[in-house]
Amino acid sequence: MLKISPLFSGSKGNCTLVQSDKVNILLDAGYGYRAIVNALCERGLEPKDITAIVVTHEHTDHIGALPMWTRHTATPVYAPMPICDLLRQRVYFSEVHEVTEDFDIGDVTLSTFECSHDAVFCVGYKFTSGQSVFACVTDTGCVTEDLVDFLTPCSAIMLESNHDEDMLKRGEYSVSLKRRILSPYGHLSNAQTAQVLDKLVGSHVKTVVLSHLSEKNNTRELAFNSAVRVLTAHGLVEGRDVIVYVAEQYKNGVTICID
Ligand SMILES: [Zn+2]
Ligand SMILES: [Zn+2]
Repeated sequence: MLKISPLFSGSKGNCTLVQSDKVNILLDAGYGYRAIVNALCERGLEPKDITAIVVTHEHTDHIGALPMWTRHTATPVYAPMPICDLLRQRVYFSEVHEVTEDFDIGDVTLSTFECSHDAVFCVGYKFTSGQSVFACVTDTGCVTEDLVDFLTPCSAIMLESNHDEDMLKRGEYSVSLKRRILSPYGHLSNAQTAQVLDKLVGSHVKTVVLSHLSEKNNTRELAFNSAVRVLTAHGLVEGRDVIVYVAEQYKNGVTICID
């Protein structure tokens, strides 16, 4: 069994709680420390109940709370090797472990996917516990066969749907920032996410959480409609055949259970 709670998701910060029968894992800690503690408290958890924090990459919207967290609680941190030294300079009492291709935390096996992103190194993670398989991939700039293959065995996925291309192009960001986001090392647009979903039709994926939405260059409706349009084109009914959620930046109440 796996329970997935996207606590905070978006350009301002990211943190997802992944629970199995035996462990509680935080996937990234990129939001305010107090806000994360409060969100956990609402779920009956304290910081000491967190078994490990696994980090995708070193951008602030993914690790912002690590210094404060590791000052209060020595939760072990797992991260890709190229960013471990950098993290060791920012954490206090915690040990930083290098992730390998596959590794275990309690009854959960994790594997990594190398993202295409303008970070020192960035990965997505797949979590497997018994028959339950969940993956989260955000902060990646291109759709590849490898990405589709990584997501195919999952029954639930959390996938970036960062921006609407037209909103971004018309919006107030500088030309260089627009170029960065649209590049193969930026973020997935709604249309790119729809491309991934198109390729996943017929796979095990039954729950999709659209995540890491830009506050300025996207809306929940645009992201949701873009994803549902591609499912409908294949004759699938959202809510019956596939459930689509949109993770929120500030207040995420949803918890997804995968048996
Ligand atoms: Zn990033
Ligand atoms: Zn990010």
